[in-house]
Amino acid sequence: MQLNAPLDMHLHLRDEEMLHAIAKGSAHTFSAAIIMPNLVPPVSTKEAVTAYKQRILSAIGDENFTPYMTLFFKPSYDKAFLESVRDDITAIKLYPAGITTNSEGGVSGFDVEELRPALSAMAELNIPLCVHGETNGFVMDREAEFVSIYEKLATAFPKLKIIMEHITTKESVAALDKYENLYATITVHHLLITLDDVAGGMLQPHLFCKPIAKRPEDRDALLKVALSAHPKVMFGSDSAPHPKHAKEACGCAAGVFTAPIALQLLAELFETHNALDNLQAFISGNAENIYDITAAQKTVTLEKVPFMVPADYNGVVPMYANQKIAYTVTEVK
Ligand SMILES: [Zn+2]
Repeated sequence: MQLNAPLDMHLHLRDEEMLHAIAKGSAHTFSAAIIMPNLVPPVSTKEAVTAYKQRILSAIGDENFTPYMTLFFKPSYDKAFLESVRDDITAIKLYPAGITTNSEGGVSGFDVEELRPALSAMAELNIPLCVHGETNGFVMDREAEFVSIYEKLATAFPKLKIIMEHITTKESVAALDKYENLYATITVHHLLITLDDVAGGMLQPHLFCKPIAKRPEDRDALLKVALSAHPKVMFGSDSAPHPKHAKEACGCAAGVFTAPIALQLLAELFETHNALDNLQAFISGNAENIYDITAAQKTVTLEKVPFMVPADYNGVVPMYANQKIAYTVTEVK
């Protein structure tokens, strides 16, 4: 089977040594990706975003890949600033303060009036807002609790495109159809695992991520909209590399590394559910429509030939390391 112009609408490429270790893994099989801005310090100026883009381009070498850059949302962004960066970015990412890796400078409290200047300007300039939607509540309830904040933002800023990132719950899925301006990304790991796979037996650090994998009925809700390529959902891997020692540690960092095997896993999943015809829309077409972008041409051929997932990619342990998966990428043009 072939996929055209695969897009990863939520990707962590990190920086420095890690960027060089993993960036080509995404750049080889994907046409483009939305690049998360949660570096230290976060990417929040025009200079920072253009410099980070250059570092990514030099790390990927001659791969044909577009990094769609993002800024780390700050309520202080004004219209003049946003106009000045409009051509350098594809979206802006909002993190609630302290909720995930390097999100300390994020938003705490979601006062509509405090957010109005920045979010109104974004709506006017047609800059989508990507949101890590979790409260500081009990870990299994954080995303469902955040849905009321999504609803508040969607109502207050009806012209703003709001992307609910890496959704994991049936509550978020339900919100998609209630508000015209709410969209979502879904990871491959949240389509495959539940909390049982993470902590039901021996603890699996390489499956530990935020938002944590949820209940079977949540995964079923995600599968329903992903496998049918619901027009408001798109693939975003949230592939989040950490060095092996940071995962296999007392105090395991959150993040699942899937980028080099994401297309293979999706092909297997969609085939298992007789939904291969919808994979192209989930992996590319929906994102092009939602973001109003045209991805660079790239054709990825996958064959149903078992692939042994390596123990690590330059020191980063992927999901399903040392296990066989059903599909292999056999050609990229
Ligand atoms: Zn992420």
